Amino acid sequence: MTANKNKTLRLILGDQLNINHSWYKNVDDSVTFVMMEVRSETDYANHHIQKVIGFFAAMQQFAATLKALNHNVIYIYLNDQNNLQCFDKQCEALIIKHKFTHFEYQQPDEYRVDKHLQQFTESLKIIYKVLDTEHFYTEREELGNFFKGKKTYLMESFYRYMRKKHQVLVVNGDQPLHGQWNFDKDNREKLPKDNRPIAPLVFSNDVLQIEKEIKKAKLKTIGTVDAKNFIWPLNRVQSIELLHFFIEHCLPLFGTFQDAMVPDEWSLYHSRLSFSLNVKLISPKEVIDKAIAAYHAEPNKIQYNQLEGFVRQIIGWREYMRGIYWHKMPAYAEMNFFNHENKLPDWYWTGKTKMNCLKNAIQQSLQFAYAHHIQRLMITGNFALLAGVHPNEVDAWYLGIYIDAIDWVEITNTRGMSQFADGGIVGSKPYVSSATYINKMSSYCGTCYYNKAKKTGEKACPFNSLYWDFYDRNEDKLAKNPRIGMMYNVWRRMKPDDKAALLTQAAHYLKHINEL
Ligand SMILES: Cc1cc2nc3c(=O)[nH]c(=O)nc-3n(C[C@H](O)[C@H](O)[C@H](O)COP(=O)(O)OP(=O)(O)OC[C@H]3O[C@@H](n4cnc5c(N)ncnc54)[C@H](O)[C@@H]3O)c2cc1C
Ligand code: SF4
Repeated sequence: MTANKNKTLRLILGDQLNINHSWYKNVDDSVTFVMMEVRSETDYANHHIQKVIGFFAAMQQFAATLKALNHNVIYIYLNDQNNLQCFDKQCEALIIKHKFTHFEYQQPDEYRVDKHLQQFTESLKIIYKVLDTEHFYTEREELGNFFKGKKTYLMESFYRYMRKKHQVLVVNGDQPLHGQWNFDKDNREKLPKDNRPIAPLVFSNDVLQIEKEIKKAKLKTIGTVDAKNFIWPLNRVQSIELLHFFIEHCLPLFGTFQDAMVPDEWSLYHSRLSFSLNVKLISPKEVIDKAIAAYHAEPNKIQYNQLEGFVRQIIGWREYMRGIYWHKMPAYAEMNFFNHENKLPDWYWTGKTKMNCLKNAIQQSLQFAYAHHIQRLMITGNFALLAGVHPNEVDAWYLGIYIDAIDWVEITNTRGMSQFADGGIVGSKPYVSSATYINKMSSYCGTCYYNKAKKTGEKACPFNSLYWDFYDRNEDKLAKNPRIGMMYNVWRRMKPDDKAALLTQAAHYLKHINEL
């Protein structure tokens, strides 16, 4: 390090691995980057072992890339003796030790870390600066401004605004390509028996050393890992390889089977890009641009409805969730619209249940730290909502188990979209279903211990009675919702004996929930 008067310390968080950030354009010897593996990040949830390893391994590789580019980097490993295990103390110690005159960091995506660093910098006696991460399409407050004065928010109108603003799949300035904004009606089919999706591209990263350090530190984790063959992308090259694999092999059927569920097919036609995106190894713009370019190059191979469905997930849902998060936090994390109080069944942590759909979705999550959207929404999320589980418990599970789980996108999806704990900010109605929907979209029911067609009695599918119990106990909150009023007409027309039998069955299942 030189004896320059001005010396800057720049903090890089574990989900800020964006090598294209303007910070790295020039090598400046007066600047030092710091990255750290700290207990404040590993211990705030019971994380999946693959999630902890994924973050640390990607961080270590990012630090190595920076060093190879001749940047000054301080990397603090989990078990380093001088590790003070949280951002503020560690930065303060480095500032004193190396006599830094300036401190800089990029806007954290998590409210918790944002507040932590705000408090830290307010007490700093040196000059500090906060920069954008240069990753998202939107600014933190953009969604809030877009919906200013509106009582309800609608993803679809935000999505159209985004398409027009960024000229994505738009013609003549503000018209949707091919005449429609949304092609969802062409999507969402069950996977036919004769359709075998391509085997997912997985990597064989050796992360044994990191696993060893995690064990040495006695971190509490869930799930399993093959640390000699770690499957997730850990750097930009692997992330781009995964993107190309997706575009070549999965995008042509992405939309069609985006809601399908099949035992033993954990990835189907999904991209599995969420980890790379969320830690910023790749940007949403490059993902969308590459998918769109592939469509234009081969429109006969990739139909437009597949492309539009994918673009909507990223420029629509992903940015929408980020916007809701920054508009509604911190109150959002406390919302519990239905006043649910129940505990999460124990088998959410083991997958040991006789319900085939839940067993598959949970065991797959424990094995891969991954489940696709409909497994998260309509299997695990659906059951937790029907069972009246406290949203804190549901959030803790989702935040721990998935490799892509970072508060801003986990909580809005879980508490909002899945549990309707926000009373309808993210979604306009709760996503609940009986076995009918699960059987329509999956092949789980055929081999299940429970009978999908039975509502009451021995081996009746628990979803069937819990579904009506949910509507019954929440009538005061939901009956006026125009999107579900119809369900109450069905419920009210049911014979009193049938209703009583359904509620008795549901009460029995709720009482014995850990044995289901
Ligand atoms: C209860 C619940 C919890 C969730 N928790 C998370 C989470 O912690 N982290 C996370 O990244 N996503 C979360 N999601 C959203 C979604 O399920 C995942 O983004 C997706 O399954 C990741 O797999 P993929 O990359 O194969 O996605 P694909 O199906 O291939 O979709 C492509 C990309 O679109 C984006 N995307 C799609 N749907 C959403 C959405 N609803 N919100 C935000 N981005 C979306 C993701 O970046 C994803 O990588 C959650 C959804 C539910 C219902
Ligand atoms: S019968 Fe019920 S519990 Fe079994 S797989 Fe189908 S929906 Fe799930």
